[in-house]
Amino acid sequence: MHKIRSDIMLNDAIKTKQLKTTQHKNFEMINNNQQTITQLKSILDKHQQWLVITGAGVSQNSGIPTYRDEKGQWQRSRPIQHQEFVQYEDKRKRYWARSAVGWPPVARAQPNVVHYALAKLEQKGYLAGVITQNVDRLHQKAGHQQVIDLHGRLDRVQCLSCQTYECREQLQNRLLQKNPFLNQVNAEIAPDGDAHVEDQLTEQIEPVGCSQCQGILMPDVVFYGGTVPRETNEATQQLYQKSKGLLVLGSSLMVYSSFRFCKQAKQDNKPIVIINQGVTRADDLANYKFEVDCQIIEALL
Ligand SMILES: [Zn+2]
Repeated sequence: MHKIRSDIMLNDAIKTKQLKTTQHKNFEMINNNQQTITQLKSILDKHQQWLVITGAGVSQNSGIPTYRDEKGQWQRSRPIQHQEFVQYEDKRKRYWARSAVGWPPVARAQPNVVHYALAKLEQKGYLAGVITQNVDRLHQKAGHQQVIDLHGRLDRVQCLSCQTYECREQLQNRLLQKNPFLNQVNAEIAPDGDAHVEDQLTEQIEPVGCSQCQGILMPDVVFYGGTVPRETNEATQQLYQKSKGLLVLGSSLMVYSSFRFCKQAKQDNKPIVIINQGVTRADDLANYKFEVDCQIIEALL
């Protein structure tokens, strides 16, 4: 266990509350000040190269909503499950109607300071790579080279019959051409390119099939209840083996596909650093926990 300091200054109610929620954990709680930045920098210098795991908290400042609050609890209705999508046409109609409204904001979203800071840390040689749970491709838009989209990517779809990929933007045009009423729908945006479109509207949608074979199209993302492809898992293991430590940014790690890297790092005695506002599933495994906005990473440059 790495201990950083014991005299943490807590100067506001929020931080006191955060400490209370985590005071029995076996990691050191660290607040956001210049000393913290110095400490974080010294940790990162010591164990590079790092494997970075990013989650929704990283994309939040780009206007992409998140599923969970600071306690790791669901904020919204349950997302679609893999089997539901594959098996039921009404579920797919609902998905595409909501996606037709929810996709444009994702397409327009721009990287924020965290994405750019990570890309710079990569250029400086600090990182073995990034494994992101986000499907928005904002790391790549920021110029990051070594990124694995653990849960896939929203910017393309794949035919379940002939496996042909189609660009999501092209599909968007086909969806709207066939369903012009969707141009008029206003709905609150939800995570992962979803939107809260009323069920009576989603029932009216005419689904669009594969342009090659009319097969069922599915976004190239891993839905809840779905499986991360074998090639993706192999690629993540290669990055993991190259790394000396694990840096988690903006994720509660509630999904096992990302949490398991922390279990693995713990077994291999690789240091685990978590920067996340709120609890994470790996708090008990972490060597250092920073309950601060992940924008702190920018200060390291
Ligand atoms: Zn097809």
